[in-house]
Amino acid sequence: MQVKNALTIDLEYWHSPELIRGFVPEKRDDLIIEMATPILRLLDEFGVSATFFVLGAVAEKYPALVAEIHSRGHEIASHAYSHRTLHELGRDRFEDEVHRSVRLLREITGEPPIGFRAPSFSIDNTTRWAFDVLERHGFRYDSSIFPVETHLYGVRDAPLGIYRPSAENVAENDPNGRIIEFPLTILEYARKVPISGGFYLRVLPLNVLKRMIKRVNEERPAVIYLHPWEICPLMPRLKLSLSSRFITYHGIKSTREKLEGLLASFSFAPAREVLEL
Ligand SMILES: [Zn+2]
Repeated sequence: MQVKNALTIDLEYWHSPELIRGFVPEKRDDLIIEMATPILRLLDEFGVSATFFVLGAVAEKYPALVAEIHSRGHEIASHAYSHRTLHELGRDRFEDEVHRSVRLLREITGEPPIGFRAPSFSIDNTTRWAFDVLERHGFRYDSSIFPVETHLYGVRDAPLGIYRPSAENVAENDPNGRIIEFPLTILEYARKVPISGGFYLRVLPLNVLKRMIKRVNEERPAVIYLHPWEICPLMPRLKLSLSSRFITYHGIKSTREKLEGLLASFSFAPAREVLEL
């Protein structure tokens, strides 16, 4: 039988990513409705349900959108409230955000979220208090650890497969840990290659991605992530540095087709279902 992989979508504003936040002349929050439409249609077409990690600020301003996503059978999970990283927030403000976002999501769906993804994958050993906060607010799993160090984020030496992070060191498994971690997928292949989504999904050719996911699936399920703006031509063009421009815009035109290729070749489900929670 085919391995079930987790398909996860970070539902945030197009201007939420850290890399572009300072360069936005006009926020146009309302674009989120138009940007969410193509991905929802695509998932319907393929009969796939996914996990949506929803930003609290989006749930507050566009509750009908979140209700619509939920009514189509997708899992509603939390992406905190403001998209500030955990490093910026610190423990107390993070806890306020978690509390607020749980309340907002529960009002919409009628049930508390059990899954969490930190903005900019900002859980590492300096913010490991996050697991304690998540546990106290009823979360069962997290999908924020990026087990390779990049210039923006990452935890070197973290396990590549599903594990339970220890309270002392998030890169270590503790069988008694209360939160299950579903780390972003890395293929170990001469060196560690992130293949899980976002920029990497946009930059890698479909046949290479397919081969890599197959390799991962020999051992474990993969988690794929993307943002609605990544398959939407409406993404506003900003004046960014060359490297930020590349990271932000590369492959937006081809990503929709690539995603279709993946949906046709692999089995996908919400993270909660893959983790059997
Ligand atoms: Zn995000």
